[in-house]
Amino acid sequence: MSKKIIIAIDGPAGSGKSTAAKNIALKLGFTYMDTGAMYRAITFLAIRNGIADNIPAVIKLARGIDLNLKSENGVTRVFVDGEELTEQIRTAEVNAKVSDISRIPEVRSELVKIQKKMGETGNIVAEGRDVTTVVFPEADLKIYLTASIDVRAKRRLHDFEEKNISISLEEVKENLLKRDKIDSGREVSPLKKAEDALEFDNSALTPEQDLDYLLQQIKEVLKKNENK
Ligand code: C5P
Repeated sequence: MSKKIIIAIDGPAGSGKSTAAKNIALKLGFTYMDTGAMYRAITFLAIRNGIADNIPAVIKLARGIDLNLKSENGVTRVFVDGEELTEQIRTAEVNAKVSDISRIPEVRSELVKIQKKMGETGNIVAEGRDVTTVVFPEADLKIYLTASIDVRAKRRLHDFEEKNISISLEEVKENLLKRDKIDSGREVSPLKKAEDALEFDNSALTPEQDLDYLLQQIKEVLKKNENK
């Protein structure tokens, strides 16, 4: 493969983006880029530092952050200033605050800079809310992944159960709907389908079926690239 490929996946919370992106990355030997983990890391630190409601302080935090993602065998490990935050960024507290932090334009521009830099190596699968529209508008394949709210909530509940975190389906659903509303309604880089993205609803599919379908689409893009 000569050209460096970028695959970008956006969609609402629980639509299966990270599962699909991880599986694609493993299958193709690409690097998986979880942009949500970066917004989560800033949110976690803002909460821990007691500044989550202080926008200038959050912006300062974002501007000085030394953020690293290490993608190994489908697991993304998150480090800030060398401290590992992989587990801490996935709590209900972070879920409840992350969309408020991510709507701050200056936070977004700092993270987008880091993401674009990471993307320079190519052969990556990036996922988030604006990777098809803002971070990698030139991606070789753009996918807008969706699923029904009930399916998404059940998937997220399952993730919490696996970590022995006690939370009700209703609470999970409420958080997803709230985040969807803020993420899609914000002024800067709202979650939306890029005009040239392939929209795909995977509500009725297993992760394996989802992966099969997406790999088929990717194969076609790679074939076209080889012929260029
Ligand atoms: O994908 P995940 O659910 O981990 O993302 C957490 C939150 O981070 C989203 O609800 C959204 O507010 C924010 N986010 C974003 N832009 C991205 C990725 C995530 O605003 N590219």
